[in-house]
Amino acid sequence: MNEKTKRKNRMETTQAIVMEGEPNASDAEAYVTWLFQKAVQQRASDVHVQPHADGTRVLYRIDGVLREATRFESTNHERVISRLKVLACLPVYQHELPQEGRIEQTPGLCPARLAVFPTIHGEKAVVRLFHRLGERPLQLDELGFIPQIVKGLRQMTEGKSGCILLTGASGSGKTTTIYSLLRDIYCRRGDSVNVVTLEDPVEMNLEFAVQSEIKPAVGYTFATGLRSILRQDPEVLMLGEIRDRETAQMVVEAGLTGHLVISTIHSGNCVEVFTRLLEMGIEPYLVASSILGVLSQRLVRRKCPACLGKAVSPDGLPCEECQSTGFRGRTAVGEMLVVSDPFRKAVLRRLPTSELTEVSRENRIGSLLIQPDLSTSGTMEPSENLTPTLQQGVSHES
Ligand SMILES: [Zn+2]
Repeated sequence: MNEKTKRKNRMETTQAIVMEGEPNASDAEAYVTWLFQKAVQQRASDVHVQPHADGTRVLYRIDGVLREATRFESTNHERVISRLKVLACLPVYQHELPQEGRIEQTPGLCPARLAVFPTIHGEKAVVRLFHRLGERPLQLDELGFIPQIVKGLRQMTEGKSGCILLTGASGSGKTTTIYSLLRDIYCRRGDSVNVVTLEDPVEMNLEFAVQSEIKPAVGYTFATGLRSILRQDPEVLMLGEIRDRETAQMVVEAGLTGHLVISTIHSGNCVEVFTRLLEMGIEPYLVASSILGVLSQRLVRRKCPACLGKAVSPDGLPCEECQSTGFRGRTAVGEMLVVSDPFRKAVLRRLPTSELTEVSRENRIGSLLIQPDLSTSGTMEPSENLTPTLQQGVSHES
């Protein structure tokens, strides 16, 4: 990350959000309810409650950027954390170990997931809000990808088998893309298509799919779920994430036996997905013949349409639409690798990443760095999801 971006990020995280009607944090129940209500109003995806030596800071992640929402006194910190734990059915007395739990319904709003972990000043809590559960997936061409990527995704999902993998940092919009892709497949194939998902957690209710949520605590993992689902012979299968060898093996095999499988895997870019699978111990012939293509994606923030990115309204007042940030909403940028015969052969030969990259040059669509219609769509600003190299690349361009 270069100095310019660092400075900018720091400014954004310290710029406070205007919040009204704040109850005293000593009434933890009312306070937490208010925090959640404000978070949803502000379109926040996460709420961070973090203790410091001089008090507790509450931060909201909005459009991928953390911003301070409010602060309260350290004396009330434990009360607020306890209230969150109660909502997530976690033991309140446990302070020494990290804990995770699900909040079925944040007061009057939406389901959420709570993670707490001990710090030197007390426990820090991060709440991820799932307020998109009732929404419908966007259409594939509404996500922001260039038309060639949309077309490529449609072509890859025309067949009845094979794997499509998505990669990108967490919070880079992969799940949103998969939901849109599943909706697209359903719209093209109609009611008869059997779509099954295995997720961690379910982020949106899809009326056309059978959705299941894994529960590792009771032994229901991606691997056990996948084994069971495959016996039911779904045509289209979405698996939240390939995390281990066992799941990877099952995914590529399913792609070869008449299933269309869509999943995500952690890696630096499209080509590294292949290297990663080979390193996991998956046979090159399975990887080469099963994978149809890989999409690597990230999100960039969109300029606020109300103030056109100026952060002040035409009458000179701070822009309320974007809380004076100049941005509102995000759009996807992607790079896609469509597997071709030469690339397949290169994977079979276990060529190193650098050579695979060279072979794939002809078959890559789009770029994570360049978005051709940025000037017209009014988007563009690197978000926090960039890797250092990418971030530098984007900063040089700007
Ligand atoms: Zn604005």
